[in-house]
Amino acid sequence: MPGLLENHIAAVTGAASGIGRAIAAGYAREGAQVVLLDIDEQAAEQAAEEIRRSGGRASSYRLDVVRREDCVKVATLVREQVGQVSILVNNAGINRRNGFAGDASAVIKDWEDIISINLNGVFNVTHAFLEPLRAGKGRIVNIASIQSFVHVRTPNSPAYTTSKHGVLGFTRALAAELGKYGVRVNAIGPGLIETPLNAAVRVNDPELVKIFIDHTPLGRAGKPEDIVGPAIFLASDLSSYVTGSIVMADGGYRAI
Ligand code: NAP
Repeated sequence: MPGLLENHIAAVTGAASGIGRAIAAGYAREGAQVVLLDIDEQAAEQAAEEIRRSGGRASSYRLDVVRREDCVKVATLVREQVGQVSILVNNAGINRRNGFAGDASAVIKDWEDIISINLNGVFNVTHAFLEPLRAGKGRIVNIASIQSFVHVRTPNSPAYTTSKHGVLGFTRALAAELGKYGVRVNAIGPGLIETPLNAAVRVNDPELVKIFIDHTPLGRAGKPEDIVGPAIFLASDLSSYVTGSIVMADGGYRAI
């Protein structure tokens, strides 16, 4: 049976780890040729190699999404070496949990780093890949968060919450503007997903994890694989009339 993403080339940022890595592998299983972009070149290549060993098509490029000129260079290289990207997943992101009223230097550093990567990075990469996406009636999938809406129950840094509100705003703004080119732009809102991003928190702050799980109807944290189905849906023709939406993949966290 043909896959849902045959004839697509999909670029995924932050694809060396966690959610991005799972999405890249899932897209490859659905027949897409995947381009793994990550600041960690070696890990990205390992993930690509794993996909190739399973029979998929994958290549990797080092990319720091903060560096706008590098985003343009990588987009050009991908065009020359792989082809026209028709799916972009903006997934690269970091998180820290310092409160605004805490140590000033930590708060300022968090703001600069998190906004640079989680928000400006989404802008940089999307802008760099705009032409192929527009030419190919492409699909953009942005990884947002429950923090695109909420903050109080599971404390987080204001920078992270702001960045994820921004990702959702950017998703809606681009959906409104790019719809006329047939480009669809959507977001996914994961809840707590067990990845290296929060490995230390899960070990050091079980109380925070408990607060989270107690508020999650499905009663468990998510796995990267839980995000793959929504990501395939939003990249494929299954969602042909869906744009400007956020699909929550949070075990029901936001519903209650
Ligand atoms: P992860 O396992 O840490 O993976 C993130 C990947 O992005 C890592 O390979 C990381 O490299 C890379 N990266 C970091 N900075 C980068 C940059 N400047 N340029 C390119 N790549 C960069 O995290 P994850 O949990 O899968 O998170 C993926 C996305 O999901 C993020 O946007 C995150 O905010 C979002 N999200 C996660 C959760 C969750 O509970 N895990 C919940 C909601 C939303 P290094 O490891 O070398 O830094």
